[in-house]
Amino acid sequence: MTTPDTSVRPRGHGGAFSPEAARADVPILHRTVNGHPLVWFDNGATTQKPRQVIEAVAGFYGAANSNIHRGAHTMAREATEAYEAGRDAVARFLNAPSPDSIVFVRGTTEAINLVAASWGRGRVGPGDDILVPVLEHHSNIVPWQLLAKETRARVVPVPLLEDGRIDQDAYADLLSMRTRLVVISHASNVLGTIPPVREMTALAHRYGAKVLVDGAQAVAHLPVDVQAIDADFYVFSGHKIFAPTGIGALYAKPEVLGTMAPWQGGGNMIESVGFDRTTYAPVPHLLEAGTGHISGAVGLLAALNWLTSFDRDAITAYETSLLAYAREAMATVPGLDVLGDAPERVAVLTFTLAGHEPGAIAAWLDRDGIAVRAGHHCAQPALAHYGLTSAARASFALYNTREEVDRLVASLHQLRQSAP
Ligand code: PLP
Repeated sequence: MTTPDTSVRPRGHGGAFSPEAARADVPILHRTVNGHPLVWFDNGATTQKPRQVIEAVAGFYGAANSNIHRGAHTMAREATEAYEAGRDAVARFLNAPSPDSIVFVRGTTEAINLVAASWGRGRVGPGDDILVPVLEHHSNIVPWQLLAKETRARVVPVPLLEDGRIDQDAYADLLSMRTRLVVISHASNVLGTIPPVREMTALAHRYGAKVLVDGAQAVAHLPVDVQAIDADFYVFSGHKIFAPTGIGALYAKPEVLGTMAPWQGGGNMIESVGFDRTTYAPVPHLLEAGTGHISGAVGLLAALNWLTSFDRDAITAYETSLLAYAREAMATVPGLDVLGDAPERVAVLTFTLAGHEPGAIAAWLDRDGIAVRAGHHCAQPALAHYGLTSAARASFALYNTREEVDRLVASLHQLRQSAP
């Protein structure tokens, strides 16, 4: 397994990031769709994979496939090392204090459900509050509703301002000694808003509440430091950060993780099993019952190595300039409205176009080879805040270019002209 060579300067160091260097690594970006070169603006749903990830996964199955931990043979040892190298890479990537604070999961959704089941059931009780901002993805709302129903706690929505920021005054007012947990997206999948997670976490801690940060839409765009945020939990999905589907990570502060109860039973999470007495493995393995997604961890390691081979600050600066360019260009389309206007945001533009259903917009763009998502984006309360049930969304990644934005905007102009 390769680990990053820190003696080598990241690509794009000093702010000279070029999306072409990233594009050259991602084979799917060179295909056509409906006779046009693909424009992949559905990165919020999932990202495309560099050949380094594809080759790492194929290489694992071609030369190294084995189950882990329980075999005594060479390949079981190699597979174990590969899996644990993935864990080490996630810990470094998040600046977690130790690889033992990283639990492998299927993705963000599973991580949140794990926290609700393993931590929440023992800690949340009747009359307790779980604060959930209105901009959250359904994955960060529904598990808390289920937990609240089971424990007779309350899910309390934290309102949004018109520009898509979380109303910080309302948040401060809603916090109380009843607050057990605050959950916050590090970046909204619909509005792009980057909330002040560090400040919100510090405030929650004053009331003794724990904080879960959903990093699904942040990790591909922003450097993350879980210790600086002081998050109790930080979760993300590999597939949103150029890795395969079916692998993701939960970070939990060691002192919190150490108190968490098993949530699924099976192999890998035990030390010994008897009908009179079963004893358990230590965390993180305690929370990883059954065979994990070994090739997924290998792919995640390759993806993190790939992403961190670029200068992260240069990527953020590039994406911010691409977002500004796209906003300006889209403003030239009559009747087009972008949702949200938070000053701190990732490169996501959710929009409506007067007289056109979002599904019809996406179908029109698809004919030109441009992939955007249409629908409720699993964030119905956030859309309802703007009186909507559906919208179109263009979400960008480091490999997208201004030329692609020009194609999007040209196609939207043509849609305007073609129609009712
Ligand atoms: N949270 C946010 C902010 C998301 O954008 C998503 C997916 O779009 C999720 C959670 C759920 O991620 P997954 O489906 O990979 O579990």
